[in-house]
Amino acid sequence: MYTARVLGRRYVTRARDTVEVRVTRCLSSYIPGQYVRVYIECNDPKRFREMNITSLPEDEHLSFAFRVSDSIWKRAAMMLKPMDEVSIRGPYGLFLLPEEHARVAMLAHGIGITPFMSMIRHVVKTRMHEVALLYINHDRDHAPYIDELEHLVCSNFRLFEFFSNSLDIKEWIGDMQGDGIERWYISGEPRYVRAVRQLLVASGIDTARISVEEFSGYCP
Ligand SMILES: Cc1cc2nc3c(=O)[nH]c(=O)nc-3n(C[C@H](O)[C@H](O)[C@H](O)COP(=O)(O)OP(=O)(O)OC[C@H]3O[C@@H](n4cnc5c(N)ncnc54)[C@H](O)[C@@H]3O)c2cc1C
Repeated sequence: MYTARVLGRRYVTRARDTVEVRVTRCLSSYIPGQYVRVYIECNDPKRFREMNITSLPEDEHLSFAFRVSDSIWKRAAMMLKPMDEVSIRGPYGLFLLPEEHARVAMLAHGIGITPFMSMIRHVVKTRMHEVALLYINHDRDHAPYIDELEHLVCSNFRLFEFFSNSLDIKEWIGDMQGDGIERWYISGEPRYVRAVRQLLVASGIDTARISVEEFSGYCP
């Protein structure tokens, strides 16, 4: 268990329903795509929540982001002030980019963008991999990090924004298959991850090429 101090907090959607928290870098190393358990002093018997790391391993800070709710843990998280202490366990997880250069598709729904933020920042910085992100949200105001993602677009990072309540994404999947995508990554609430995975499999994509990160704890 590591101790970190809170550095600050900011909203990452215009609707102010998603918050990023920055804490001091307490882990000696982690890999983009991994998550930590963040422990906060509060009355919730489960004192932690799993949170994907949104920062880069070389950053001076460690950050994570969550959708605001009125759970005890999140209310305590919203009360954190600079210099307050939190405890961190980890890093955990095998939701990682390929080791060799690859053409990668990422599919994120809302808060499911968090592991991809660290991965995409890494990809843009190192120019390793070619990434196409399909980012699905109800509307722009509720899309975490959308302004930053638009700024990151470059020769090896393409962003496709899809504002809808439906999962009518078969055409995009077909286009990406035509582009020679080798690996497919899905992240977000379990219900969404499973539905998208089914669409990929129904499109003939080998399950060995699909990696998923399910945010269990959000309503299944
Ligand atoms: C690997 C991993 C990475 C994650 N990364 C992030 C992240 O980056 N950002 C983020 O916001 N969240 C992430 N989560 C989810 C996060 O840990 C919380 O579970 C989530 O944010 C909901 O927390 P809460 O305090 O709002 O709600 P809670 O009070 O925990 O509960 C929310 C709702 O879900 C129900 N519920 C709780 N636990 C379960 C369960 N196990 N199965 C079914 N229903 C349940 C509750 O009854 C309630 O209706 C991640 C989860 C995992 C497993």
